[in-house]
Amino acid sequence: MYFEDKTCGYCHNANPSTSSNSIGFQSENFTPSQYDRLINLGFRRSGTFIYKTNVLRNCCKMYTIRTRMDLLTVHKEFKQCVNRFNKKIGNEPNKDKEFNLSKEINKIITGNDRFQIINESAEFTEEKYQLYVKYQKLIHDDDKTSKKSFKRFLCDSPFMKSARISSDHSTIDEFGAIHQCYYLDSKLIAIAVLDVLPSGLSSVYLIYDPDHRDMELGKLSALLELVYCNEVLGLKHYYMGFIIENCQKMVYKKKFGCEVLNLRDYSWAGYQERCGQFEDNDQLLFDLGYLKDLVTDNEEYCKKWALKGVHFGDQLDKVFDAEGKLQLQTSKDPDKDSDDEEDDDNSTMYDLPLNIPGLRSLKDSFLADLDSLELLNFSTLMGRLRYFHFNGEKESTKKTLINLYRLLGPELLSEAVVII
Ligand SMILES: [Zn+2]
Repeated sequence: MYFEDKTCGYCHNANPSTSSNSIGFQSENFTPSQYDRLINLGFRRSGTFIYKTNVLRNCCKMYTIRTRMDLLTVHKEFKQCVNRFNKKIGNEPNKDKEFNLSKEINKIITGNDRFQIINESAEFTEEKYQLYVKYQKLIHDDDKTSKKSFKRFLCDSPFMKSARISSDHSTIDEFGAIHQCYYLDSKLIAIAVLDVLPSGLSSVYLIYDPDHRDMELGKLSALLELVYCNEVLGLKHYYMGFIIENCQKMVYKKKFGCEVLNLRDYSWAGYQERCGQFEDNDQLLFDLGYLKDLVTDNEEYCKKWALKGVHFGDQLDKVFDAEGKLQLQTSKDPDKDSDDEEDDDNSTMYDLPLNIPGLRSLKDSFLADLDSLELLNFSTLMGRLRYFHFNGEKESTKKTLINLYRLLGPELLSEAVVII
């Protein structure tokens, strides 16, 4: 559930004393509405793996962002990108004095004899796979591109059903994951992996043909998806994933007028106004007052849980030093490290620490009356479904349930089936 990875795909561990620290789980089945709620708790998915980072310990400070058309300022570079793209695919150039983003993007969405955008189900084809191999190799210098990894990463999703695409491939009749494919002269040049969800459109990944780098497909696809989300699908938010302040490849997302998820209460606020509050500590977009409350609550309720026979002492992680200053090193414990067996992927599993911004505190779980929640358990031992009776479970099961409560909150947890 909680793991530390020595290699980070974003900063490549520019600071060797830091590492990537994430919380994640393999999902079996989610409805789009359930996954939608997870995104609004700061989670993302990679295939069927659902994760978020511990912003306190992670090398890169990743924050969940989203945007809407009315938050977007159409900068000159956006106009140029769209105009150039329209020209390249053979569309009439914009002759109006005023640049109308919706109008210009709609020309691209509508397509022409040379260029089409087709919504396809998120399934494997050889053509998609070949594009993935080329993209990963030339853009990310990645040679480990098996068919299996492509399927796992970009075709698999946690949804029970695939999205239902309209017969003309232009819109979506039922929520789920899709591949939005760009074809130029009948050749596949880009695939946007998208989740169409009740509250918006979530961008999962984009791959494009490096031969068409000059088409600025990263920027273009983001603008297109924003218009597509708000105006074609009529959905409210365009979820752009995470933003990392200190990562050049990511900061461009700020230009889209983003909102950022506040980890204290899962509300959304304008990125600039939220950032502005913490200028003297730009690594931290969450407020220190919140963090102090979280640490205090966890320490106090760690003792209260212990009186009820559930011990979290080993999960209490130090956040502030004796002088009350924030300690920002990773949770890595060198003694523990040397004893641990490492996986092939270079990651190490740990117990879920208590002080993770964006996860509920032990106080919340204590006050929640877990015994009254109807929680379903699929018992692998008995091979059948049963309800948990929190007070009657053994300590390790109680800890698991409390940690799941911290992770998912009451609503999603009560809809889950916990496999133990
Ligand atoms: Zn990093």
